[in-house]
Amino acid sequence: MKVIIVGTGIAGLSLGYFLKQAGVEVVFFDQANLTGGSSAKAAGLVTLQLRRPLDIQAVRESLAFYRLVEEKSQGIFRYRKTGLLWLARSPEAVTLLYEAYRVQRDLEVPVEYKDGPVPAAPPGLLGILGSTYCPADGYVNPYAVGYALYTYFRHTGTPVRLLEKVTGLKTRNGRVTGVIVNGRESVEADRVVLCTGVWTAKRLKEWLSLPLPLVPYRAQAASLQSSTLEGPALYDLDTGIYLVPEQAGQWIVGNGTQLVPQDPDGYKEGPDPEFYDHVSETLSTFMPMVATEARLGHGWAGLLAGTPDQSPLLGPYPGVDGLVIAAGFNGSGIMRAPGMMRWLSEWIISEKPLPPQVRVDRFSDLAMTFPLRPGFPATQKTPPPDE
Ligand SMILES: Cc1cc2nc3c(=O)[nH]c(=O)nc-3n(C[C@H](O)[C@H](O)[C@H](O)COP(=O)(O)OP(=O)(O)OC[C@H]3O[C@@H](n4cnc5c(N)ncnc54)[C@H](O)[C@@H]3O)c2cc1C
Repeated sequence: MKVIIVGTGIAGLSLGYFLKQAGVEVVFFDQANLTGGSSAKAAGLVTLQLRRPLDIQAVRESLAFYRLVEEKSQGIFRYRKTGLLWLARSPEAVTLLYEAYRVQRDLEVPVEYKDGPVPAAPPGLLGILGSTYCPADGYVNPYAVGYALYTYFRHTGTPVRLLEKVTGLKTRNGRVTGVIVNGRESVEADRVVLCTGVWTAKRLKEWLSLPLPLVPYRAQAASLQSSTLEGPALYDLDTGIYLVPEQAGQWIVGNGTQLVPQDPDGYKEGPDPEFYDHVSETLSTFMPMVATEARLGHGWAGLLAGTPDQSPLLGPYPGVDGLVIAAGFNGSGIMRAPGMMRWLSEWIISEKPLPPQVRVDRFSDLAMTFPLRPGFPATQKTPPPDE
């Protein structure tokens, strides 16, 4: 079997790995460079402290994947087990946190809960009503994992055609049979998988006039230097602000989410001044010591692929043979995509059914409109039923 994967973000690369391991012939195309889409913009946080069992299962599998890549990459990539604290500073956030904690505990996630700061919390935090901590959570550098996988594909003779844009799909009798590259070259395959992230709905519309409930929206992050902050990554449930330790004294701080649809081919890639103000104000409310000495540095904005229920859209596009979708990871593709791509690879190889919660055809109307929702699935007040 030959599969074309369009997109070399975390979804495309991890899917390619699982397919290649199973003996499938794989060819990649990306209009940009390796991990050049949203994956390059990610803060790289990986957490098991989610609320839906299926997401937790996916993250567990992603962690196994990252361990495997680490083992095989000869030092190119390392999963940094930093641990992650979730902080709740309002009674509503405590309720959310505790509900999620109970789900996690039932699934044997190594997580602890405390009314107030857990022992792993750094000193000097103010107003913490509840917190959880999981030592298995951590940080993935998306470039490093991308480069480690690229090295694997080079060694296995897998074509990774970067800076080559897919400009259309080839069809025969209603079946997708390949792609058109740079407007001139045709490449045939048994299946074409669109791992095209925030571009996916736009591309489907351009190429086949087909709808997909996927809307790009914007999030921001920046580097932060601090001489006093030490310890695990932090996530403030009340504001969605998170801090990830990248290396000694250097952190990534993020959120700045704007629930407004964006054009993936033209959005503001630099940060907004309001984002810096929001970070500074938030830090001064609960970590005043850090807020007085920390310095915010280079910032950036990227896009997240929003879907109606914040679960991705995976599997065959209904009614179009040969066309497979693998997009819509919202704000948590680094942590969820590798696990879910293993499931998709099994469907491609042996038709093992995908979980219904992630299948494209769970929506009967793919042209539906929906409100965008921020952040990780754990922050949803009313997550859709999982089972
Ligand atoms: C600021 C920010 C912080 C984030 N932090 C986290 C985090 O801490 N943890 C986490 O889990 N997730 C995080 N995310 C989300 C995460 O980045 C995404 O969910 C994930 O990267 C999506 O991966 P993907 O492979 O689906 O898409 P992408 O990485 O966007 O890959 C899609 C690829 O398709 C290519 N493409 C599109 N059209 C074509 C075409 N016509 N021809 C060829 N190639 C094409 C693009 O160039 C791109 O490389 C964050 C995102 C942002 C913006």
